[in-house]
Parts: sequence; structure tokens; C-alpha cells
Amino acid sequence: MKAVAIFPAEKAVRVIDHPEPALARDSEVRLKILDVGVCGTDREVAAFEYGAPPKDSPYLVIGHESLGEVIETGSAVSRFHAGDLVVTMVRRPCGLPECPACAVGRPDFCVTGKFTERGINGRHGFMAERIVDDQRYMIAVPPNLRGVAVLVEPLTIAEKAMIEVGEVQDRLPWLRSGEDRGKIATGNKAVVLGAGPVGLLGAMALLRRGFQTWVYSLEPDGSPKALWVQSVGGKYLAAKDVPIDRLAETVGNIDLIYEATGAAQVAFKAMEALGVNGVFILTGVPGHKGRVEIEADLIMRNLVLKNQLIYGTVNAGQDAFDAAVADLSEFHLRWPQALAALITGRYAPEACPELLLGPPSGIKRVISFAGHDVDTK
Ligand code: BGC
Repeated sequence: MKAVAIFPAEKAVRVIDHPEPALARDSEVRLKILDVGVCGTDREVAAFEYGAPPKDSPYLVIGHESLGEVIETGSAVSRFHAGDLVVTMVRRPCGLPECPACAVGRPDFCVTGKFTERGINGRHGFMAERIVDDQRYMIAVPPNLRGVAVLVEPLTIAEKAMIEVGEVQDRLPWLRSGEDRGKIATGNKAVVLGAGPVGLLGAMALLRRGFQTWVYSLEPDGSPKALWVQSVGGKYLAAKDVPIDRLAETVGNIDLIYEATGAAQVAFKAMEALGVNGVFILTGVPGHKGRVEIEADLIMRNLVLKNQLIYGTVNAGQDAFDAAVADLSEFHLRWPQALAALITGRYAPEACPELLLGPPSGIKRVISFAGHDVDTK
């Protein structure tokens, strides 16, 4: 069957003929892949800067943002039936006895670093016509989300961040109990840094939770992304018009900053703008681009004197996947056009090497294995 793979020894990316997977256990499910999203991590994997094939393979089938349709189930599978739509989780446990996180099914917090990730690290991914996995790693998606469910996995980044922010802001006694609990922050003002798919999905997640949300990014005011932000009820700040050191005076007390740029310079500069009792969440993974100067005294003073908290988040557990499906359904009801507009192109698998190696463009580009509604390139 057809798959898209990277070959580290040859430094090549190409469409290959990959063996058809078969059910090996009665708890496994076989999927026909419909859509696979392309993201920054895939571009790094295709540039051979990150990730690795399985130990016994010269190549890695890439792809971790997927949507598939059930075509076969093992005899012990009760949760899924042929025709169901499914999103499959990415990370698999290290299985080592010293890892308490993997032991409770939370490899997203793996302590040994020996986890694997489908399509990224040590395990073939989802950019193939068919895949097999255990039912425990699969999440059901309602049929009405067929067109957008490939966004579930990138949305899980924001969902895990939101679950954690709820937990860490339980430290604020007046939010811990009672009606305000879900509110997360005091004033509910959030800034998203970056207007890529992770940033824009994060903005939707924040808006849905009642945050006044500003998206800060490079695109000028009036650009399609700025208009997109306004169409979902957010405010847009163009970096050209508002230097980052005027962020706090523009927004007011910022309760939450959601970083989705992968640019350390921008992230640490924005840290200076975080407000009282604020939370700063980092999701981007910068390459090693050299040293960055930061206002360490100011940042540290603020962290202490303003009770601030900074944390990073990677990957996601079942709770975040469930939350992502629920949120996507809500986004689909509230903002159907804006949600669909995040997918800026569907392409045949043959176009994937060029998408990975050429300049980034659009918002979310999707490889479609469904054989219809595909752009020509
Ligand atoms: C994926 C995560 C993965 C991370 C690090 C991200 O692009 O969404 O599932 O854990 O890369 O490999």
C-alpha cells in the first residue's frame, strides 16, 4: 500500500510501497486513513533534525495528525465498529518498570524518555493508506466532524494546556471552589503568541472558555489571519503595530499567555508582560538558533512578586483527546466557517514531499487518502 516515508541514510522523502498492516491482537483495529495533517514537527522530521525510524527499518512512515475509518476489528474490540471515524493517539509507553507515568497510561509525562511516537520517534506513523493500532489508543469522532477531525490532534496541545491550567490555578483559593472554578484565571484575559494552527486552535479553546483573547502575530492588521481571529470574537495584534514591550499596556493584566511560535526570543520577551497570578504556557519547540538575551532580573522579580507560573507542555493523554473532540464539536457549532477555514489545502500523498520540503504556507495542509476533494497539487 501507499505511504509517505523519510529515509535518514539517503536524506530522502518519498512515496513508497509499504507492507499492508494486519491485526496481530484481538484488541486491535484496522483503519482506512482518510486525512493526515502536516505540521512543523513533520517538517523537522523531513529535514532530519528530529525523530527516527523504528530500529529495524531504514525508513520512517511519517504522519501523526490523523483521521481514519474503521474497516476491521479484533474479537475483543467492543468500542468500535466498521465505518466509525477514529483519531489515533501518538505516543506509546516506554514500558519500563521505573516509569510511573507510562504505568498509568500517561506516556505524555514519560520520565525515562524511552517512549515512542507514531510517525515521529521509533514507530511508523499514519501517512499510509491503512494502519493498525490497539483500540485503547483510538478516540471516536462523530460523523459530522468528518471534514475537520484531522484537527483533533493539534487541538490536544491546547486541551492538555487547559486541563493543566485548571489544575494549577486551583492554587487561587477563590477559584478553587464554587461557581468560578472553571474560570481558570481572575480577569480572564489571554494572549496567544503566533497564528499558526496551534495558536489559532488555542485561541478558539480560550474563547470557548470565556477568555477575552488577543492573538499576537507577525501578519499585518487586515490580513486573512487577523480577520479570522476577529471572526471568532478575538482581538488581533500585529507585531508591527504593537511592539512586544507594549503588550501589557495594550491588554491590561494578562492572566494567561499561550505561546505557539517556537521562537524563544519572542517567548521570553512576552514573559515580561505576564500579569499578577498569571500563567505562561510554552508549546513551541525551538531549534538551536544560538543565544538569546533576556531580562532575567525583571522576569524573575515578576515571577516572585506576581505569583507567576511558567510551564511547558508536550503531547497529550486520553483526557485531552476527549476534550479536543468535545471542543471541536462546539467550535463546529459556533464557528463552522472559521473552523473549516483552518484547513487551507488538501493534497494527494504524492504532493507531500514538496509540502514538507518547500516553503510553509497556508494554515493547516492536509494529505487526503480518501481519493476525492483533493487539490491538484
Ligand atoms: C506532536 C506531539 C509530539 C511532539 C514531540 C508534536 O508535533 O503533536 O504528539 O509529542 O510533536 O515529538
